Amino acid sequence: DRPLVAIVGRPNVGKSTLFNRLVGKRIAIVEDTPGITRDRLYADGEWLGREYTLIDTGGIQMFETDPLKAQIRGQAEIAMEEADVVVFVIDTTTGVTADDIELANALRRSPKPLVVIANKVDNGDQEYRNVPEVYSLGFSEVFPVSALSGRGLGDALDAIVGHF
Ligand code: GDP
Ligand code: MG
Repeated sequence: DRPLVAIVGRPNVGKSTLFNRLVGKRIAIVEDTPGITRDRLYADGEWLGREYTLIDTGGIQMFETDPLKAQIRGQAEIAMEEADVVVFVIDTTTGVTADDIELANALRRSPKPLVVIANKVDNGDQEYRNVPEVYSLGFSEVFPVSALSGRGLGDALDAIVGHF
């Protein structure tokens, strides 16, 4: 079986944009406003000949009325149970939020390999200004990426397939 790579993060950080870019197709729906993705969750990807299956956990909603905290907790649980590698996406344009910290703490308690992506780093200036704050979450390695343009994605993918 292909390794399962789960993308987690609070709404609007760019999970579906990253999913589509990694899959090379527009499958997940990208939303301009924070919300829940109701679309296909799984698709296959490949990097340097290493094949894997991706899951966009942002599309998972168990109950319509679930508060955001419960949704995020649900994502983390599913990722930690099913995934071989967990990709945690943070939005560097909004800065680190309480939800990011909660998710980071949950993921840290899991034995699953974790790749932390600082997303929406579209240029070098944004990398310099916005990425240092992400290190406050306490992870030793953070990959600055633009899911929109693909900037920095190669290094993140090397790290992901390096855990297979
Ligand atoms: P999700 O809710 O985590 O799945 O986030 P989406 O993938 O739906 O993206 C939310 C918004 O962020 C959309 O407007 C995307 O176009 C935007 N976005 C995603 N990745 C990037 C990026 O790398 N750079 C910029 N500037 N915007 C991005
Ligand atoms: Mg989404």
